[in-house]
Amino acid sequence: MHDIGYGAFIENLLNESQMIIEPLYLPTQQTCGCQFYIYRGDLECSVAPGNKRHKLKYHLQQASKENKNILATFGGPHSNHIAAFVAQCKHQGLTPLIVVRGETWAKLTPTLRQAVDSGALLFPSERVDYKLGLRANIKKVVDEYYDHQVYWIPEGGAGAEGVRGCLDWANEIYRLCRGKPFHLCIASGTGTTAAGFAASEFSSMTVFSALKGGDSLTTDIENQCLDAGLSINTSIKGFDEALHGGFGKVSTAQLDFLKTLKTLNPDIPLDPLYTSKMVYKVNQLCAQGEWQHNHTLFVHTGGLQGWQGLPLEKQVY
Ligand SMILES: *Cc1c(COP(=O)(O)O)cnc(C)c1O
Repeated sequence: MHDIGYGAFIENLLNESQMIIEPLYLPTQQTCGCQFYIYRGDLECSVAPGNKRHKLKYHLQQASKENKNILATFGGPHSNHIAAFVAQCKHQGLTPLIVVRGETWAKLTPTLRQAVDSGALLFPSERVDYKLGLRANIKKVVDEYYDHQVYWIPEGGAGAEGVRGCLDWANEIYRLCRGKPFHLCIASGTGTTAAGFAASEFSSMTVFSALKGGDSLTTDIENQCLDAGLSINTSIKGFDEALHGGFGKVSTAQLDFLKTLKTLNPDIPLDPLYTSKMVYKVNQLCAQGEWQHNHTLFVHTGGLQGWQGLPLEKQVY
């Protein structure tokens, strides 16, 4: 395999103490001869690490322009979006309001407990209504209650603001790569983060959906770019979640894999729902001789707080 100086590149980064791109060792890497790196989005910021902070960036700016002090959004009881949203609001002295998917139980999940402890207001919802998002009846109720002084953010921080925040993030990471042609790997849920990367200067990426049935994954991503007024510069290939039982599920094979990955990379914890499934899939493609990219850069999108939603016997880190 040709070496175009990636070793020296990483060394330079380490010397500059920007430990934010590191080698990641995969169990099957020897068989494919490829090299893997990971951008440590999980280490970026102590307030709200990971992609959600970037998705929220322009939403927070817009709320501030509109002089709104109460920010509202939607989220599931273990959601990374909620965790980041609350942390950001608290940091900026704003009041977070959360429409929780389904009923709220007296015994809150760790994510919601932390939200309430940080001053968040919780509103339970009926699942049918929740699905309507910004058109939900519960939104009307909240708006009337707070005299229309609430700034709303869609579930997961989606929308054009979210895409544009992720585009900025992607270009920051691109600059850190200093022209090295990395093939990018990114995990997706709504695809908003991937849309930001698709509009960036990276030339190729593979997207790993955390949801089952990713038939329309690349079209979804392209449409989100178009809706945000951005053009696509990146070639995209997509995979859906076909191996671990769907969104929010964690398989035994996945946990076993993570234990091995941990022995190879003791200081690089992955989250249970997105990044670990992505790395699992690439490791598998590698073993099957189907991974053709010599230099791959995974984006760690954070989400480590998601482990709180799993029982003790499933904890890896
Ligand atoms: C939300 C999330 C994603 C997916 O982001 P989308 O913009 O919804 O595609 C990926 N990784 C982690 C850790 C997340 O929390």
